[in-house]
Order: sequence, then C-alpha cells, then structure tokens
Amino acid sequence: MKEVRESLGFVGLGIMGRGMARNLLEAGFPVRVWNRTRERMQPLVDAGAHHSGSPAELARDCDIVFTCVSDTPDVEEVVLGPDGIAEGAAAGSLLVEMSTISPRVTRRIAERLEERGVAMLDAPVSGGSEGAEKGTLSIMVGGEADSLERAMLALRAMGRQVTHVGPIGTGQTVKLVNQIVVVVNMLAAAEGLLFAQAAGAEPARALEAITGGAAGSWMLENRGPQVLARDWSPGFTVDLQQKDLRLALEAADELGVPLLGAGMVSQLYRTLQRAGLGAEGNHALVKALERLAGFEIRGA
Ligand code: NAP
Repeated sequence: MKEVRESLGFVGLGIMGRGMARNLLEAGFPVRVWNRTRERMQPLVDAGAHHSGSPAELARDCDIVFTCVSDTPDVEEVVLGPDGIAEGAAAGSLLVEMSTISPRVTRRIAERLEERGVAMLDAPVSGGSEGAEKGTLSIMVGGEADSLERAMLALRAMGRQVTHVGPIGTGQTVKLVNQIVVVVNMLAAAEGLLFAQAAGAEPARALEAITGGAAGSWMLENRGPQVLARDWSPGFTVDLQQKDLRLALEAADELGVPLLGAGMVSQLYRTLQRAGLGAEGNHALVKALERLAGFEIRGA
C-alpha cells in the first residue's frame, strides 16, 4: 500500500529549526519553509524545500505546520499575528509548536486555533543543535493522542525519543523540568572542573575519567570539551537559556515551589549578560564561576 504523506511546513530556521527541517526533507516529506531572515531559507531550498512568502501562505499550503522560533511573543506573532499561521491554516490542519515557551500562553494559543478548527500539539525538544542536526532529539509532547499519532512519522524523523507527557501545555512544563536539570548540571560540571584545576589535576584528564561514570551527563560529554577548548560558540545561547529559566522561575513563583539551584544559576547568567556575553553558549557559565574564583580552567 502506498504511504500517504501529508505536506509539511516549517517556520523558524535558526540553530534548531534548520536541522529539524532538513531531517523532514531527508525523510521524504514535501516541506515548505518560512524564515523571517530570508537568506536563511536558501540552504533548505537548495536541499529541496519550497519557500513561502509568509507564515499564512505556508499554512495555506500545508497539512501540518511546525514552528521553532525564539520566545513566547515570537510564537504569538508567527501564529496569531498579521500574516500568521492562523490566517492561512484550514480547518482540519495541525500546528506542532516546538519552541520553548510559556505553558500558559501555549494553552491560550491552542484555544484560539481550536475556534478555527485547527488542532495543536506543544512539542518542545531537548538534545541541542547536535540533536537537531542528527535527528536524535528528545521530544516531549502535550496534546491529544490522535494529533500526536498524525504527527508521529514526522516527529520520528526529528527525534529519537517522542514522549506523550499529557494534555496541551504539558510538553512545555516538562521542557522546563528539563531546563532546571540542565543548568544545575552545567553548574556542577563547571564547579568540578574548577576544583580539578585548583587541586592540580589536569581538567582534561578529570573530564575523561568522570564522563563515563556516575557523574556523566549530556552536558558534561558535549559541553565539557568545549569548555576546555575555550570554544564559546553556542549550541544554545546564554540569552535563550535565561529565557527558559525565566519561564521556569515564573512558573515556580506561581506554584510557590522553591528552585534554589536554578535561581542561583539565573543570577550567574545575568552577570554574563551584563558583560555582553549573552550570545555565547550556555556552557560559558564557567566564566561566571572563574571570575568568582579568580582563575581560569586550562585546556589540554
Ligand atoms: P535561534 O538560532 O536564535 O533561532 C531563532 C529562530 O526564530 C530564527 O529562525 C529566527 O528568525 C526566528 N524568530 C525569532 N523571533 C521571531 C519573530 N518574532 N518572528 C519570526 N521569526 C522569529 O534559536 P534556536 O537555538 O534555534 O532556538 C529556537 C527555539 O528552540 C527556542 O525556543 C529555544 O529555546 C529552543 N531550543 C533550543 C535548543 C538549542 O540547543 N539551541 C535546544 C532546545 C530547544 P531570524 O533568522 O530572522 O532571526
């Protein structure tokens, strides 16, 4: 039996979106793309995607639209704003929102789309730029099971693990859980490497020794070597990391839950933003600790 593939659209071709859209193309889906900065569409067009003139135009031509832009107001703009996805999307189509944004606003956007007969999943991701490129993301999905089933083939082209975590908005909540664990993990990695250096152990050897043990983690394995090479190029920028911490801390305030580690890391990142380092990778957290300690971690 011939498999029927729905036509897909992808809005937002940044560090994450460009790899994700490319994986959809490579999985054989027809893909339309739109990006605010037009030049960024060209590599995808060269790889076989069609480009659209606006999110509304893209949505008119697609059954399922994926979005991966920066922050909550950006998603509101590309979905509900002038020339946005809601203007073009036909009843019966599906929006899969993959940015990291406010769970509350996610639910509001879903309500607005529902009035037009458009379904929505929130499906934020984890796994960094590497995961986006290799199609190995972890995708946490909120929404109705039938919508997830419809999007599953495409999500599997972008991610290794797709987990249905609950109703709409829950994907974003679980993503914030992920971010709390990521930043406290990075803090631990930075402290450990600083300590190694101070105590006279070669940081590169220490990293090699602990990566495969109980202290091992994705952050340590992927960002540890970057720290030692003093390569601050971003897989995920300090500014975007702060955006996610803000979302987590706001939600924790509403819930009355203490987030001690995440709150402290947010303050440390703030010192980097004040120093003009917001565009560096989130592993630059090390620099905030180095300033407190008064020495730098040496690489090899
Ligand atoms: P990025 O490289 O900064 O890309 C952001 C994308 O959003 C760009 O395509 C940008 O368009 C577009 N955009 C931003 N504001 C817009 C607006 N108002 N209207 C239209 N387009 C807009 O960011 P990223 O790293 O790909 O992250 C995208 C999302 O994924 C964020 O929510 C982030 O938290 C999440 N995420 C990132 C990572 C990671 O490791 N990078 C991991 C997991 C989740 P232009 O090209 O015109 O600027």
